[in-house]
Amino acid sequence: MEARVFSIPMRTRFRGITVREGMLLKGDAGWGEWSPFLEYDDEVAAPWLECAVEAAAGNWPAPVRTSVPVNVTVPAVGPEQAHAIVSAGGCTTAKVKVAEPGQTLAEDEARLEAVRDALGPRGKVRIDANGAWSVDDALAALTRLDRAAGGLEYAEQPCATVEELAAVRRRTDVLIAADESIRRAADPYRVRDLEAADIAVLKVQPLGGVRACLRIAEEIGLPVVVSSALETSVGIATGVALAAALPELPYACGLATVQLLADDVAVSPLLPVDGALSTHLPVVDEHAFRRIAAAPDRIEHWHARLDRVRQDLGL
Ligand SMILES: [Mg+2]
Repeated sequence: MEARVFSIPMRTRFRGITVREGMLLKGDAGWGEWSPFLEYDDEVAAPWLECAVEAAAGNWPAPVRTSVPVNVTVPAVGPEQAHAIVSAGGCTTAKVKVAEPGQTLAEDEARLEAVRDALGPRGKVRIDANGAWSVDDALAALTRLDRAAGGLEYAEQPCATVEELAAVRRRTDVLIAADESIRRAADPYRVRDLEAADIAVLKVQPLGGVRACLRIAEEIGLPVVVSSALETSVGIATGVALAAALPELPYACGLATVQLLADDVAVSPLLPVDGALSTHLPVVDEHAFRRIAAAPDRIEHWHARLDRVRQDLGL
C-alpha cells in the first residue's frame, strides 16, 4: 500500500496543537487518511486505521444525499470578530465556543448576541463548552446563554462526564449533545443507556469508519452530527460519506474544518459552498504532497506506528 506522511501547520493553535500530522494510504479506490493524534497509543489508533483502510478500498455505503450542510465554527473571540466570521462563512448554522478558561460568561453572552445578529432570526446557534462546566455552572450558564443567543439549537458537551451530562439534561430544556464523551466504539451506547444526550456527535476515524458509524447511529437511535478530527480534505470526505449515507440528517455537520489547516492535499480543498459540502471525492495534488511532506524523522515515526498498528489488526 502506497503511504505518504504529511505535516501541515495549523492556522491557529487548536486542540493544543500547532501542526497536524498523519498519513495518507492508497488503496484500490483511492486515498484514505490515518491521522490519530500523536499522544494516542496503538490501541486507540487502531480504529482510525480501519477507517482509512475502508476509505482506500472505497468500501462505503451508497449516499442518500449529494450535499451535506455544515456549521461555521466561532472560536472564543470578541463580538466584532465573531460577527465577521459568521458573516463571511456563508453558513446558516454557527457553532460557538464558550467557557474558555480565563473568560467570563458575559463574554460568552456578547459573542452569542453578535452571532445571532450576524445569522438573523432563522439561523441556528449551538454552543460547545468542551466539558468545562460543573453541573450547577452548566445549568446557570445554559439559561443565560440560551437567552443571549435568542434560543440555542443545542449545547455540546457542557460537562466532562457522561453522568454529569445526564444530570444536566434532566434539568434543562436546552438539547444536549455528547462529543468528547464519545471517543471509542462502546461510548455511544453508554451515552444512550444513561440517557445523557439528545444528540450524538460522531467522528469517523476514532469510531472505525463509515460503516461502523452507520451501525452505531442505527443502534443508539439518536440523531447524529458528523464532526471532523481536524483532517485534510481526504479525511473530511470520509466524514461527508457518513453524513451522506445517514438515513436522516436533521443537523448541520461539523466538517468545515479544512480552513483551520494552512495547506491541504487536495487540488480543490473540501470547503463549504453556500453552507454545504459536496460529496465529490477530492482529487489529490502531487505538488501538495511535496509541499506538505513531513521531515525524515517524522516519516520514520509514522511508518513504524503504521507497521505496529497494522500488525495488531492483522492487516
Ligand atoms: Mg465539541
